[in-house]
Amino acid sequence: MTEDLLARHRAVLPTWMPLYYGDEPLEIVSGSGRRVVDAAGRSYLDFFGGVLTNMIGYDIPEISAAVSEQLATGVVHTSTLYLIRRQVELAEKIARVSGIPDARVFFTNSGTEANETALLMATNIRRSNQILAVRNSYHGRTFATMAITGHRGWSASSLSPLQVSWLPSGDRVRGRMRGLSDADHIEVAVDELREVLATVTAGDVAALIAEPIQGVGGFVHAPDGLLGAYKKELDEHGILLIADEVQTGWGRTGDHFWGYQAHGVTPDLITFAKGIGNGFALGGVVGRADVMNAVPAISFSTYGGNPVSTAAGTAVLDYLLDHDLQANARRVGAILLDGLRTALASCAVVAEVRGRGLMIGIEFVRPGGNEPAPATAVAVFEECRRSGLLVGKGGLYNNVLRMGPPLTLTEEEAREGLAILVEAIRTADAAAV
Ligand code: PLP
Repeated sequence: MTEDLLARHRAVLPTWMPLYYGDEPLEIVSGSGRRVVDAAGRSYLDFFGGVLTNMIGYDIPEISAAVSEQLATGVVHTSTLYLIRRQVELAEKIARVSGIPDARVFFTNSGTEANETALLMATNIRRSNQILAVRNSYHGRTFATMAITGHRGWSASSLSPLQVSWLPSGDRVRGRMRGLSDADHIEVAVDELREVLATVTAGDVAALIAEPIQGVGGFVHAPDGLLGAYKKELDEHGILLIADEVQTGWGRTGDHFWGYQAHGVTPDLITFAKGIGNGFALGGVVGRADVMNAVPAISFSTYGGNPVSTAAGTAVLDYLLDHDLQANARRVGAILLDGLRTALASCAVVAEVRGRGLMIGIEFVRPGGNEPAPATAVAVFEECRRSGLLVGKGGLYNNVLRMGPPLTLTEEEAREGLAILVEAIRTADAAAV
């Protein structure tokens, strides 16, 4: 069945769409809690949550009930030109948790659109198309968001509608920041920002956009406080800070509700998507009222903020706050992170186990150096699947394993996944040495 579907997929979808697991892709047909079942009836523990999308897990009664209640009205959606109670309710809740005083919220259907919207607002209020972005970043799949994506695998366009200048990534396995202390890293990066502003840009930059932890880029994080240090410089020029929290928001990082909070800064705009919909198409921007209100033309989205996705979003937000999933992410994430670090300390193929909360990456290199080892990452990734564990891959060199399970992950499930990961990595390590 799945083979037939693969052939049909290949015949009708574009060739550039990636599929995990090559010629044996997964067709997920059902799910419950943190587990999914494929078309052949095999069950998997899901440590990737559909790229950090299924933040609560699968088949959650509270979310299904909220969506069913909306569907029972007979209205899936008409238009955002009418008042939508659920949109207003969710906007109120998101504004409250955003950390931005007197915030406004605009809903979209995806993270890409959320970033487009943030760019629209920033470029409008600043009357400039100049943007600062970070190397190794990922911000989406449209013309403008690809232009600010500093990742060669994903930013195929050089026909940018924006003028983009690049700041260093937080990569410390290789590159300029290697071996630097946090304080030195911040100093070098801020110097770079100053230099870019003074020499590369025309001085009227609209915004800096940054992921507090780079997602697709391989869960790379710069030292805590860097965005705060950047913001001091930006404020001198009136440049806005956009935090792309599409992967890092809603308590995933454990210590904080938003990734930006590790940096001692409040962004002007925050973009969000993925987890807040738990699978329903929902994204948006929350930000300072003066910036959000500055778009001179009228603007709306046909589907952004529709009653079904905002009903789902409200149920997700209520669930994660009522169950304090941030605390669970911190506690269970620490078990996973510490367990991996301890068990893999002597593995020559592991350059770094890094992460925060339930956002954990393992970077693979060739033994004895820091040359990326994507083949090792693939071997581990595939072995995990064979052992019933789904994980993600990523990084500039495709050599990073990414774990972003639902924030409801139990300690028992964390230990189950940990055992599979350790076994697969030790096997790959033995084969490489
Ligand atoms: N921003 C970040 C940090 C992301 O990780 C992604 C998707 O992976 C996006 C934006 C784009 O979101 P979407 O795929 O919902 O358009």
